[in-house]
Amino acid sequence: MSDISSLYRLRLPGPTAVPERIRQAIARPVLNHRGPEFRAILSRAEELMKPVLGTANPVLFFASSGTGVMEASLVNILAPGERVLVCIHGQFGERFASIAAALNAQVDQLHFEWGRGIDVAAIAEKLKTADYRAVVVVHNESSTAIVADLAALGRVVKDTPALLVVDSVSGLGGVEMRQDEWGVDILVSSSQKALMCPPGIGLASVSQKAWKIVDRDSGMPRFYWDFRKARASIEKSETPFTSPVSLMAGLREALEMIHEEGLPNVLARHRRLSTALRSGCEALGLRTFGGPDWLSSTVVALEVPASLNGGDIVKRMYDHHQTAIAGSRNKMQGRVIRIGTMGHLQDGDILTDLLYLEETLDHLGFDVRPGAGISAAAVLERGVTADAR
Ligand SMILES: *Cc1c(COP(=O)(O)O)cnc(C)c1O
Repeated sequence: MSDISSLYRLRLPGPTAVPERIRQAIARPVLNHRGPEFRAILSRAEELMKPVLGTANPVLFFASSGTGVMEASLVNILAPGERVLVCIHGQFGERFASIAAALNAQVDQLHFEWGRGIDVAAIAEKLKTADYRAVVVVHNESSTAIVADLAALGRVVKDTPALLVVDSVSGLGGVEMRQDEWGVDILVSSSQKALMCPPGIGLASVSQKAWKIVDRDSGMPRFYWDFRKARASIEKSETPFTSPVSLMAGLREALEMIHEEGLPNVLARHRRLSTALRSGCEALGLRTFGGPDWLSSTVVALEVPASLNGGDIVKRMYDHHQTAIAGSRNKMQGRVIRIGTMGHLQDGDILTDLLYLEETLDHLGFDVRPGAGISAAAVLERGVTADAR
């Protein structure tokens, strides 16, 4: 019946495994995208999404991957020739700079060492040197597993004319986000990471400060991505064009699950499991890439030992254990591997990761102490769980 083994394990930093309950919601009949049943789903999804974003803004939904809403965030605020400051601490920051360049913006780039947090003081200095329409940053750099200090950055950008534009595609739902409190002006994310859904929904939330810019008539040409149309529609619990109705039913279910568990508990679980996985990997001889500050809860990045190649680890994990983990698709290719710790993740998932990693490293000739990874992670889990009770 199925060409996918029941043992298949999706352990990427997105897309992530979709829980049964969400898959059942997606499997229900396709609805009229302007009928009462779907309006109810959309408005409930919007209502449940706001606390996850930490915002009172309307939430705009698009049929899109994450990159689509990254582009949308800039298309809606740039006028020809305007300048943006892109803060780059990994591959997705580079992508944001490429999008801005493709839109003919004047792009200034501030580069930070991959594996470290952003330097907010340096950004503040740079902001004084030119008129920027926006400061652009990736909240959770999936390529390095490092989180940006948005609270501090928000304080710096707030009192300037610039807008703070943030990609939290791989953070939202697994890493704390307080859009309004931190002063994030445009926040974009998508369905297939910590929000536990298949790929296909992009979302955006826009501050009052940013709406003033979005509402200018002097901006760039835009049609599908026009936030003004999306705002007018969501007020009627619709989207301007046909919603991915089945995926939206799944997203609504995912948000119900997040709120049933309790958002603080969801975030704490992500922190606990990512910490446990890192400890287990260290015990196996796989050192955490970067840090020690601002380590992500939704993705773990590991240095590949000098005697090995990351691609061989990824290949063995898939070929022998049907476990899809990620290498690096950038300058760290072969040297850094990554495992997602986002979404519907339980203790058993990371213990299984460690079991398979141990076999893989051993198979590749790397010296591992049998059981070291699992016992390091399990001890930590018991300790942290006991504290949390
Ligand atoms: C996954 C991801 C994206 C979006 O990628 P798509 O393939 O377009 O969905 C964007 N930014 C970050 C940080 C991501 O992790």
